[in-house]
Amino acid sequence: MTTLHASSAADLLPEPRLEIRNLRRFFDGRPVVDDVSLKVQKGQVTCLLGPSGCGKSTTLRMIAGVEMQDSGQIYVDGKLICDTVFRVPPERREIGLMFQDFALFPHLSVADNVAFGLKGSRAEKRARVEELLTRVSLARHIDSFPHELSGGEQQRVALARAIAPRPKIMLMDEPFSGLDNRLRDGIRDETLSLLKEEEAAVVLVTHEPEEAMRMGDEIALMRGGKIVQQGAPYNVYTRPIDKAAVAFFSDVN
Ligand code: ADP
Ligand code: MG
Repeated sequence: MTTLHASSAADLLPEPRLEIRNLRRFFDGRPVVDDVSLKVQKGQVTCLLGPSGCGKSTTLRMIAGVEMQDSGQIYVDGKLICDTVFRVPPERREIGLMFQDFALFPHLSVADNVAFGLKGSRAEKRARVEELLTRVSLARHIDSFPHELSGGEQQRVALARAIAPRPKIMLMDEPFSGLDNRLRDGIRDETLSLLKEEEAAVVLVTHEPEEAMRMGDEIALMRGGKIVQQGAPYNVYTRPIDKAAVAFFSDVN
């Protein structure tokens, strides 16, 4: 299935940073992720978009390594990191995580939260923490504690913490859904530009078409555990695959 022809356009692309092939996961004999394949390049954001229960989070958890697939493979930079017999543990996957309810450590300062996963000398860690907090406009809060920050500020610290160790891959599961509408657009744009600068390959899970349109370089539309349509946001939006996709996208305005 991965046979490439010498003339195929795929040959011209660099090796994907992340590739998942034919992932499947069953719960109670029912496939909740059903033959999902994806490629994500460095610096690219792919949005897994679909209604609640379609298998988005389960897919993300398999990439993170906290859930095991029943079949299929995961590759990073062309190297196998997980199939059904071989498995690189989650902490060695060079993956950054950002979830809606992935809280900051309440007893640690903002600086210590961001430094948490970092290696290197104290000075190196401090420089990276200052760089990122300045980047997300929170330098003045470096010695604050999470409870002293607003929800939007806490999410920006969570973003800085996740990206600090320079993960190859960023996995984000509805990261902005706890924030009110007024804040969301700003933090989406800010997050996107930081992720691009850091050149992470990003998989962003969302049930909101608007978010996927705004943030994705590519959208993978999921339904019932399958990717039913995949492509550039404009193409997916203007050429929906079926009536159900039209109905789903009619939310966007
Ligand atoms: P989404 O993130 O798209 O809302 P999920 O991946 O969380 O969907 O869930 C997909 C389906 O798998 C749902 O029907 C959910 O109830 C089921 N599911 C998820 N995790 C488990 C589990 N640990 N045990 C049994 N069923 C599960
Ligand atoms: Mg989910």
